[in-house]
Amino acid sequence: MKKRTLQQKKRILRDLNVARDQVGLPTMKGTTRHCLKCSRPFFSMGSWNRLCESCSSVIQKRDDVVETYRVGHP
Ligand SMILES: [Zn+2]
Repeated sequence: MKKRTLQQKKRILRDLNVARDQVGLPTMKGTTRHCLKCSRPFFSMGSWNRLCESCSSVIQKRDDVVETYRVGHP
């Protein structure tokens, strides 16, 4: 997973807000938060975004490690 730059995040946020505006949802504002895991400040796209880029990518990597079993294949 590539790291997103601040510029890219702001563009994503703007695109999201265009879509949100169309369905009548309030505009989201990006803000600087401190990561819940490592306490470093990072650019958060919303209240759901509480982990910095590096911490959230660690979680995603862990998910990738979980392998699925094939059932019923000889
Ligand atoms: Zn972090």
